[in-house]
Amino acid sequence: MRNKIALIIGAGPAGLACAYKFLTETEDIKPIILEELSGVGGISRTVDFNGSGIDLGGHRMYSKVQEILNLWNEFLPLQGEKSIDDLILNREVNNLSDNGLNPNKTDKVMLKKRRFSRIYYSRKFFDYPVSLKLSTIFNLGIFKTFLAGCSYLKSCFIKREENNLEDFMINRFGKVLYSTFFENYTEKVWGRHPRDISKEWGEQRIKGLSLSKAILNALKLTKNKETTLIDEFFYPKFGCGQLWNLMADYIKDNGGEIHLNTKVVALNNVNKKINSITVIENSNQYEYYGDYIISSMPVKDLILGLKNYPDENILNIAKNLPYRDYMLVALYLDKLKLKNNTKYKTINNICPDNWIYIQEPDVKVGRLQIMNNWSPYLVKDFENKVLVSLEYFCDENDEYWNMSDEAFIDFAINEAEKIGILDKKDVISSKREKVQKAYPAYFDAFKDFGKIKEFLNTFENLYCIGRNGQHKYNNMDHSMLSGFEAVRIIKNNLDKDILWRVNTENAYQELK
Ligand SMILES: Cc1cc2nc3c(=O)[nH]c(=O)nc-3n(C[C@H](O)[C@H](O)[C@H](O)COP(=O)(O)OP(=O)(O)OC[C@H]3O[C@@H](n4cnc5c(N)ncnc54)[C@H](O)[C@@H]3O)c2cc1C
Repeated sequence: MRNKIALIIGAGPAGLACAYKFLTETEDIKPIILEELSGVGGISRTVDFNGSGIDLGGHRMYSKVQEILNLWNEFLPLQGEKSIDDLILNREVNNLSDNGLNPNKTDKVMLKKRRFSRIYYSRKFFDYPVSLKLSTIFNLGIFKTFLAGCSYLKSCFIKREENNLEDFMINRFGKVLYSTFFENYTEKVWGRHPRDISKEWGEQRIKGLSLSKAILNALKLTKNKETTLIDEFFYPKFGCGQLWNLMADYIKDNGGEIHLNTKVVALNNVNKKINSITVIENSNQYEYYGDYIISSMPVKDLILGLKNYPDENILNIAKNLPYRDYMLVALYLDKLKLKNNTKYKTINNICPDNWIYIQEPDVKVGRLQIMNNWSPYLVKDFENKVLVSLEYFCDENDEYWNMSDEAFIDFAINEAEKIGILDKKDVISSKREKVQKAYPAYFDAFKDFGKIKEFLNTFENLYCIGRNGQHKYNNMDHSMLSGFEAVRIIKNNLDKDILWRVNTENAYQELK
């Protein structure tokens, strides 16, 4: 009998994983999800674009956590036979699962994809991560390659004190590679110079990666790959959103509730207990009561939403927590102008990349996704057309964010034409998507985040999970894992601090 209520804010990967765990691992707690948007999946959702599907930034599914892999494969068993594009091209595929499903006969299936992504810089392609090969030397020039080698050697022997992301990267790649491939691009992504960004971001995202590890990896001399170098990933047949829809169906069919179009606007606390949550649901105001409050909403909004606010200092840190926002322009094209100059066969010889890092300093676009290479089933006429998205990192209410859809789409197409990605005349249709708070940022008020954590921990029935819920650069797997952990902590009455350790401690990073 489920006589206790867990109110879960947000139906993204973290909130859904948490509700799923309440239903499968407890008998007395009913999860009720409150979600502001009209659909589930949060920023990992797949949106419709005239009958094709597009992720908000292609979302590769990769995890070292077995419990997460098991859940993904429970809802979407692995593919065991070739996808339609591999069949058409008669491509060799050697990673299919024994007893796996045929994606041409069933829809609920997880594809196994080969990762291919490169850097586009100086109107040329470079391996990602940059590798030492003849083509790199040719594209970079012999003199610059020589300088890069010398500065890398220097960085091996003379280490800088690591005070920020710039120091972190120079210590691992040398000054020349850093200023060629990281400095400008980091600024494009974060809107800040690497000098102004905490080295914690590098520790979390680049972890143990260095030039030496990248070279060992390229030469196949190492077994343990850094996450950044992983060359295979999972991807649902119809995009990431397919998984979230299946999980939502499970939750609703097994005793949980999901309320869409329901925005949490206030958390009504008496001292250190949150007794109820005020929401605006389809334009009406309601109150929900719960025994446990699990929040994946941004920490900033959570704290500003607390009704009885005790401490001015905490309020100020929360108000100033930094985020980076994101926009994409999806384009359905007759063809790409970029040519496939690799050994990989593709339909219509489109570039084989899943995504391309656009490191050209003369344009604002940061990445190009080619959805045909994620799943052919996502693209309406994948044999004749190409579905791409141009990705932009920006700040809510900056000049680009505030441009009309029409003006921004035009701007994006012109940029793509300028650097040789496409011809304007080949654009059939377009769509723009905006994502607020896509990236919790690691600068400015973030330095005081420890105080926020301590403050939130003092609420006896509050549990913070997920990416913005913890203001941590979590991927889908760690966001989900934090949802699992919240249930484990509640069920076993464990220390809440365990939650904040997801994706920071080696124990979590190394889990196989
Ligand atoms: C461009 C981009 C590419 C990415 N690529 C990858 C990738 O390749 N692989 C990977 O693993 N991860 C990737 N990620 C990260 C991934 O998107 C996140 O880890 C994941 O979505 C976080 O899940 P979450 O549930 O914590 O948060 P979210 O997905 O943000 O979900 C939170 C939910 O809470 C809701 N919400 C917020 N405020 C309120 C409120 N006041 N009331 C009610 N509801 C509210 C939101 O609407 C949202 O649905 C990428 C992210 C971005 C931005």
